[in-house]
Amino acid sequence: MGRLEGKIALVTGAASVPGIGSATAQRFAAEGATVYLTDLDGEGAEAVAAGIRRAGGRATALSHDVACEADWDHVIATVIEKDGRLDVLVNNAGIAILKMLDAVTTADLKKLVDVNLGSVLFGTQRAVREMRRVGQGGSIINLSSVAGLVGVPGCSAYAATKGGVRLFSKTVAIETARDKIRVNSVHPGVIWTNMQKAAFKDNADNVAAITAGIPCGFLGEPLDIAHAVLFLASEEARYITGTEIVVDGGMTAQ
Ligand code: NAD
Repeated sequence: MGRLEGKIALVTGAASVPGIGSATAQRFAAEGATVYLTDLDGEGAEAVAAGIRRAGGRATALSHDVACEADWDHVIATVIEKDGRLDVLVNNAGIAILKMLDAVTTADLKKLVDVNLGSVLFGTQRAVREMRRVGQGGSIINLSSVAGLVGVPGCSAYAATKGGVRLFSKTVAIETARDKIRVNSVHPGVIWTNMQKAAFKDNADNVAAITAGIPCGFLGEPLDIAHAVLFLASEEARYITGTEIVVDGGMTAQ
């Protein structure tokens, strides 16, 4: 039996390949979950969902701007209409606008807050309402970052949103613990996804320099994060709430 057999799960930002959301959705489906994959890029999400279905899994793709409350209402209503409940929410969609302090604009900050933090509030509110209504608990996993734990030059505005995700998760975990709803954050280090490819596109030398600074000596892959998310989503983590899992090859241990 799969580790998520019978569970209904929603993963945001699941179109990107290689990406943490698509890898997570694929792992969830392989472990027996019915998975909803959402993304601004609805066609990309559908391509990933179609791959999951071809492999024998259950997957549905939906277009979704996570910064838009009305989109959240539509997505959650669709899940409830089709499957009756939501057991697992992964707030994965995010953007990186990485600039040194002087260059950060008000528009940058607003965009980062809307997409990386507002989205987590909107999704968590709606998931908690549905989980409470059904009364069987659930698991919410929010993607933060090592930049939500320690200072990283060039990440001030991004870090503000990711640090916010961490403490938001802890607070909601306490508010919902008696409802058997668990809320945790996952903190990736440098994971080779489209987000990192874009960040490094003009400077391949940086990849070597960053890799050299990682104790494990290599960059992470989306599956490294997906495995941690899967664990938190599963019943194996039934006593884990309000905490964080850091998956960074030892970066923040230094
Ligand atoms: P990615 O860019 O490869 O994928 C992100 C996905 O989110 C894309 O498919 C994109 O279309 C989608 N998205 C962006 N804005 C959206 C919106 N408004 N509504 C819906 N979808 C939207 O990124 P990734 O590297 O897979 O990152 C996933 C998460 O992990 C993000 O929250 C990111 O901040 C976090 N993270 C990643 C790394 C890393 O090294 N890759 C490190 C730390 C944290």
